[in-house]
Amino acid sequence: MAASIIDGKTISTTIRKSVTRDTAEFVVQTGITPHLAAVLIGDDPASQVYVRNKERACEACGLKSTLHRLPADTTQAQLAELVAKLNADASVHGILVQLPLPIHLDPTPILDAILPGKDVDGFHPENVGLMLQGRPRFLPCTPHGVMKMLQYENIQTAGKHVVVIGRSDIVGKPMAALLVQRGADATVTICHSRTADIGAITRQADILIAAVGIPEFVKGDMIKPGAVVIDVGINRVNDKLVGDVDFAAASKIAAAITPVPGGVGPMTITMLLQNTLEAARQAQ
Ligand code: NAD
Repeated sequence: MAASIIDGKTISTTIRKSVTRDTAEFVVQTGITPHLAAVLIGDDPASQVYVRNKERACEACGLKSTLHRLPADTTQAQLAELVAKLNADASVHGILVQLPLPIHLDPTPILDAILPGKDVDGFHPENVGLMLQGRPRFLPCTPHGVMKMLQYENIQTAGKHVVVIGRSDIVGKPMAALLVQRGADATVTICHSRTADIGAITRQADILIAAVGIPEFVKGDMIKPGAVVIDVGINRVNDKLVGDVDFAAASKIAAAITPVPGGVGPMTITMLLQNTLEAARQAQ
């Protein structure tokens, strides 16, 4: 039987309606519009699309967004100066520095410099620590989006074996951290580029989450029949977006699967909107 499709677009639309309503209420109560400042350096086409989508989503939900574009040859000091300016600007509630940065720039000191209360991506070490301790200020958008999708689809994680492929600070590690929290209660295995015999591990997964960055890395024979497959990957192949999972093969084996595009991607943006509203609330 073909897998059911976990439709991130539809779930996002539902959540964005409530973000829109909550934002409107917040504006009426405070006279303040939640404001996301996005920083885009250089002209990477994919980053431009992501930032544009985030801006559009903000506007559609009644949040303010401003885009700060810097040239590709921006120095570390110039970028740090912009972050300091946005930190000091009380009208800005959330700051997002679009990654990846051009190769000559080091993202770590930049992300560390964003005030934790404005770190709507949830990448600041203080926010990562709070998340690990189960008392989050902001959850990182992509893993949070995946958790929401599972909730909306009534997919239980408690007692399930979840295998996460990828150990990045943005997706893999925080994804695993959220899944082992009390309430989620999953048993989690993390696989990465040095994992031996990865298929033997992924075939044990009740829920398999792929965040690898390699097009169609997960083949059909790496999936346990009836598993839930969450494809975080977004890869551009010949101008087409392709996930980290071989969708055609996987959808014949899995019970449920996220498509690319239209799966995790819209959820990530939705969680960013929620965090920006939350940042504005916390600033009051
Ligand atoms: P990354 O490159 O930082 O991390 C990739 C991870 O995959 C690494 O931890 C690495 O150990 C692992 N890996 C690489 N080769 C492997 C192999 N052969 N076997 C097993 N593991 C291997 O990437 P990332 O930032 O975590 O992103 C992963 C994917 O998710 C990318 O396609 C990215 O575009 C996508 N992404 C999507 C969203 C979204 O909103 N849907 C958000 C962030 C990232």
